[in-house]
Amino acid sequence: MPAFICTACGTQFPDAAQPPAQCVICEEERQYVPPGGQSWTALAALRVKHRNSFHQYEPGVTGIGTEPSFAIGQRAILLQTPAGNVLWDCIALIDDATVSLIENLGGLKAIAISHPHFYTTMGEWSGALKAPVYLHAADKTWVQNPEGDLRFWDGDSHELLPGVTLIRCGGHFPGASVVHWQGGAGGKGIVCAGDTLTVTTDRKWLSFMRSYPNFIPLSAREIEGIGRAMTPFAFEALYGHYFDRVIAAGAKTVLEKSVARYLANIAGTARKAGE
Ligand SMILES: [Zn+2]
Ligand SMILES: [Zn+2]
Repeated sequence: MPAFICTACGTQFPDAAQPPAQCVICEEERQYVPPGGQSWTALAALRVKHRNSFHQYEPGVTGIGTEPSFAIGQRAILLQTPAGNVLWDCIALIDDATVSLIENLGGLKAIAISHPHFYTTMGEWSGALKAPVYLHAADKTWVQNPEGDLRFWDGDSHELLPGVTLIRCGGHFPGASVVHWQGGAGGKGIVCAGDTLTVTTDRKWLSFMRSYPNFIPLSAREIEGIGRAMTPFAFEALYGHYFDRVIAAGAKTVLEKSVARYLANIAGTARKAGE
């Protein structure tokens, strides 16, 4: 029996003779059911029409994404740190080439995922690469397929490996997280943000939404929470959830001014009337 995968969000469901009646991830307001309706695939079919591509941004930071784009279209990031390798976020397509390449780079100590939209086929990755998957406990109810070595962390931060820290920002989901690696950017630090913090189209700002496809904003309380969560961490570069969404320099300052811009806009103090 296949483990069906939703083509709109990439979530894999448990083995079943028939696809689920609906995808609960897509039925919820932070995702969407395409106007043409729900459709399903499985890993065997996905491997025929798609492949993974790789892009090294800097030493130890390599993006892994699927071509042609599938579902939400995010790419994962392989962090190669002195303490071991971490896969940040997940994508639905896992194939022999991807597993061989990662194994030849030293395998994985851990997988960590920002939020439920990117859980995808995490159990397959966990099994193939013999790595635990770290998810924030606040989002546990969104796990659709409990296979794999899933480990739920709680609280506001969790040191995954020396110098590699998961940070719960909240906002997009209650457990929405980022990862900070102090060794990135030549020791100045980097953040991989999923869409917990989203790099805007001009790559000069960040924004933060409850729902990206349905344009639902966050509250001031939630935006302030994001700012507070990131305050203790220094970083130079920030990697968003698509290959080309990167802030290469000054990312901490970009975050601070982006939080201030968002708060001013939702408070109505950003502009004079008529501007
Ligand atoms: Zn879905
Ligand atoms: Zn999302």
